[in-house]
Amino acid sequence: MVGNGLAGVPRRIAVCLGLFACMTAQAASAAVCSGHGDVLGTSRTLVVDPREHRRIGTMQYAETLPLADGEVVLTFDDGPLPGYSDRILEILASQCVKATFFMVGSQARANPEGVRKVRDGGHTVATHSQNHPAGMHLLPIDRVRREIDEGIASVSAALGDGISPAPFFRVPGLRRAEGIEQYAASKGAQVWSADFLADDWRHVSSARVYELAMRRLEAKGKGILLLHDIQARTVAALPKILQAMKARGYRIVHVVPATAELAATPTEPSQWRLHPPPENAAILRWPKIPSFVFAGNGTLPGPWLSDSYWNDEWLTPSDRGNRRTGAASLPRQAPWPRQVPLPLPSAANLHPVPGRSIFEFRDRPRLSARAVTLLPSRRAALMVSARHGAAQAPAEASASRRKLAGKSRIGGASAPGER
Ligand SMILES: [Zn+2]
Repeated sequence: MVGNGLAGVPRRIAVCLGLFACMTAQAASAAVCSGHGDVLGTSRTLVVDPREHRRIGTMQYAETLPLADGEVVLTFDDGPLPGYSDRILEILASQCVKATFFMVGSQARANPEGVRKVRDGGHTVATHSQNHPAGMHLLPIDRVRREIDEGIASVSAALGDGISPAPFFRVPGLRRAEGIEQYAASKGAQVWSADFLADDWRHVSSARVYELAMRRLEAKGKGILLLHDIQARTVAALPKILQAMKARGYRIVHVVPATAELAATPTEPSQWRLHPPPENAAILRWPKIPSFVFAGNGTLPGPWLSDSYWNDEWLTPSDRGNRRTGAASLPRQAPWPRQVPLPLPSAANLHPVPGRSIFEFRDRPRLSARAVTLLPSRRAALMVSARHGAAQAPAEASASRRKLAGKSRIGGASAPGER
């Protein structure tokens, strides 16, 4: 069951105490972290009750984690993957930073030791479906349930000792749908979106990942950063990101779920809203997505988060210049639907004007444009005449063809060089 969570920090420690390797790793980490004041470190642990706040992350929801200005929560998706995830863990350990890992069940099955390494590093282990379907919002509800259930089961099996992952769930690709969220809630899980991204799943350089992570953090001033522990560019960018966070005064917060033994950190409801909006202005912050009732075929409706969604374009210069000022960071308009400027015609993209012969009927008697608009009886009479070679005067037919060809030009424009 997901509800009793890995979160139990005391329970995790108890499990670790039974494992020599775990003790060794934690002791080494503690020595490094207590002996060096120049690392980023983890400033505090935030204990959250998933049942009180079902959906978090301002990229998609009204609420996010109750962070103070300058506080950052690091999250890593899609692992564990041997090599990459190990390097990520080493980098985090070198800075004494704790994060949350949203693991894919099939990855956990293939690399259960990787799951335990994350746990033994003191990080929060959460789930991200079994197979990471590209369009989870489009799947029938029974498949959605299976993805969530099997993802939890696979990570639980890797953890062993009856330990479940934290009741935190992130939808693959952030392609949310009411049905996914409702089922996750029924499992006691909290759905995590994010507050900002670094595009590290794209074919960009590690320098670009660093640049985006820091620029977007500066714009928001705090929040949940979504990264991936299966990408070489993330491994390459992470040390610099952590160093920059340290240099600029940001603080890392480690999030764990509340349990019977571990009470949630006291918070006010307003702290869960990054930018408390007036009730009637919610649409200005984010397009409201209607709650659908499941159709008979069980298909889940959901928004398609296109690539344009991830862009910074909705941040105005004023947003960027007013970091950490609450409402100043609001998008000035909904990210979609947006007006897409169409390219102006140019010599390169203008289609050539079709030849006049295209508009001639080769296998039938030739008809003028005027004949087409005539009454059927008159048109029939003309066609009969045409069969006998007397449809119309040659001059009239020629003029009609010119008229047709002229109207066929795209947008009435002339072909390059025709004027
Ligand atoms: Zn993912």
